[in-house]
Amino acid sequence: MSIFQNYIDGRWASSDAATKNINPSNTDDIVGEYAHADKNQADAAIAAAVEASKSWRYSGIQQRFDILDTIGSEILARKDELGRLLAREEGKILPEATGEVVRAGQIFKFFAGEALRVQGEHLKSVRPGVEVEVTRGAVGVIGIITPWNFPIAIPAWKIAPALAYGNTVVFKPAELVPGSAWALSDIIARSGLPNGVFNLVMGSGREVGQAMLDDRRIDAVSFTGSVNTGGVVAASCSRRGAKYQLEMGGKNPLIVLADADIDNAVACALNGAYFSTGQRCTASSRLIVVAPVYDQFIEALKSKVENLIVGDALADGTQIGPVVDQRQLDQNIRYVDIGKEEGAELLCGGELLERETPGFYMTPALFTETSNKMQINREEIFGPVASVIKASDIDESISLANDTEFGLSAGICTTSLSAATKFKQECRAGMVMVNLPTAGVDYHVPFGGMKGSSYGSREQGRYAAEFYTTVKTAYVGA
Ligand code: ADP
Repeated sequence: MSIFQNYIDGRWASSDAATKNINPSNTDDIVGEYAHADKNQADAAIAAAVEASKSWRYSGIQQRFDILDTIGSEILARKDELGRLLAREEGKILPEATGEVVRAGQIFKFFAGEALRVQGEHLKSVRPGVEVEVTRGAVGVIGIITPWNFPIAIPAWKIAPALAYGNTVVFKPAELVPGSAWALSDIIARSGLPNGVFNLVMGSGREVGQAMLDDRRIDAVSFTGSVNTGGVVAASCSRRGAKYQLEMGGKNPLIVLADADIDNAVACALNGAYFSTGQRCTASSRLIVVAPVYDQFIEALKSKVENLIVGDALADGTQIGPVVDQRQLDQNIRYVDIGKEEGAELLCGGELLERETPGFYMTPALFTETSNKMQINREEIFGPVASVIKASDIDESISLANDTEFGLSAGICTTSLSAATKFKQECRAGMVMVNLPTAGVDYHVPFGGMKGSSYGSREQGRYAAEFYTTVKTAYVGA
């Protein structure tokens, strides 16, 4: 089996060590072997990005548009093949995986256009005869560190704006999903970028990731991942004064009011809590339901959850794929046990499941009789596990929704305009959804959270310019 290599300074670079990329739907299936970068390769990638930055920051916007547009076109043209690869290495079901690939292509196309639209300001000075210009320029070298749950979309929404605004990139994907990262890098490598503008280092967080955080030549770090690692990124970057942006966890609430369309509320809960095996930072893990519709809601949701088809991500008809790996599966089952010990009622699921092939399967779990104080309602589980919390009215629902360290996404199901308006105003989350699942966002508008979910400026859409550019104010005398 040939080894997929790292990409440094415009060349594919071999390494001594390699990692096996394992299919979570069938652990006998090895997706490929991927070279393991070490500190020296991280160092070489950073040096290449620094050198390339000297000219790439002044590159023309037509060139940037053409390159990003070319990358987007190839991703879209190969969506089926790349979708299969993503489903095979991460365990997301094929339609979701293909959808994610399409999203990545759309993001590159969007930022191709944004490269043409970089704006500045021209103002009069308060001093006669002096003019003021405010312009946005490249930050320099961006370190991009990504998690395993969106193996191509998250890299796309960081790499595309970084390049569009004239930055160079050192990209370190999650160890579990090098396949999509490598395929994306291969497309980028053939897009006409000068050597060193984009570099791929597939290595461990502890060695390669930490080396990136600590290296003064990296001007800014964009990170998505766990709360713990986010803390490490923050501490390391702030120690040396580097710019950083964090997207971390969520404990996203979905409120169901008495006037809701219950079928839609159940559909929103089912999608938000369980699709993508619950492995989305925007997943709805706390279902806050008011007393008058509580019984009706849980009965309807239970029957849907029990009928979800769990299986191989690549098989026709599968609705819920496997958990990504053994560690995450153990964590999910541990939280199911914690919920039971805390006195929650496990209405269904939460058990290991065997399928034809060896994989990390479990039945989607639904807890009732839970309180917002329970550990299962305070910590992010990151699996197909959701809890129902009973509330008396909208005020209590919103107060429960806000009673969390996190604030990424929040939803409400209601037919009342005033209830929806109150929720949108009072809910402390970066993204609020009305009659929609908490997960599922657009790519041309800001993505990000409040409180412990995020730090720094928003990602995606025009707002990405905040992170990937730096502002300069020029004063020009006569
Ligand atoms: P998860 O495993 O849930 O994706 P992590 O926060 O562990 O969440 O990982 C997200 C990304 O951060 C991965 O690419 C991982 O390799 C990287 N990472 C982990 N530890 C560090 C670290 N000390 N420094 C930099 N990056 C790290």
